[in-house]
Amino acid sequence: MNSGDDTRESTRCPGCRVELPVQPWPDNPKIHASAACLKAAGDLLVFEIEHREQLGYLHQLRMDAYHAQHVQAGAPRIGPVFALNGLYMFLERGSGNVDVRTAHGIMANSFDDWPELTAPESAGQLTASDVLAAGGPDEVEKAMLTWAAQVWDAWPDSDRALVRKLTIDLVPARYLHR
Ligand SMILES: [Zn+2]
Repeated sequence: MNSGDDTRESTRCPGCRVELPVQPWPDNPKIHASAACLKAAGDLLVFEIEHREQLGYLHQLRMDAYHAQHVQAGAPRIGPVFALNGLYMFLERGSGNVDVRTAHGIMANSFDDWPELTAPESAGQLTASDVLAAGGPDEVEKAMLTWAAQVWDAWPDSDRALVRKLTIDLVPARYLHR
């Protein structure tokens, strides 16, 4: 912890609840997050790119975990469905970045009656900021996997069951590896 930051005002992220010093960072109206948390997510992306040989396979998972932890009430239903679809495909079906992106394209083109999912009050203990602070690439990799699993597990069983079913109904089995 940098003691020089002690006097700075802090904010709590409405999505993941992380408390961070206030940051001048642009809002994203599609994401239920504090500016400071969005900056942490941006810094995590930079870290991923700097270590892309090790962390690149987690690119889509990182985005989906972040989105599923910061669902904006009233935003289009497809957003959380896609985020949970990505978490499900990676965590339970062994799918990678390209599989999930392809699945999103197929789903978007073949269906439009998306269910309304109910975001949990809080989705997991870990945050993007915690993942970034975990240490070097090995620690960040491990923390990112734990974070994504916590976010997925925090969603109601009924919503996860819906997403599993939608995925199996809409996505060809070749994009699911187990
Ligand atoms: Zn947050």
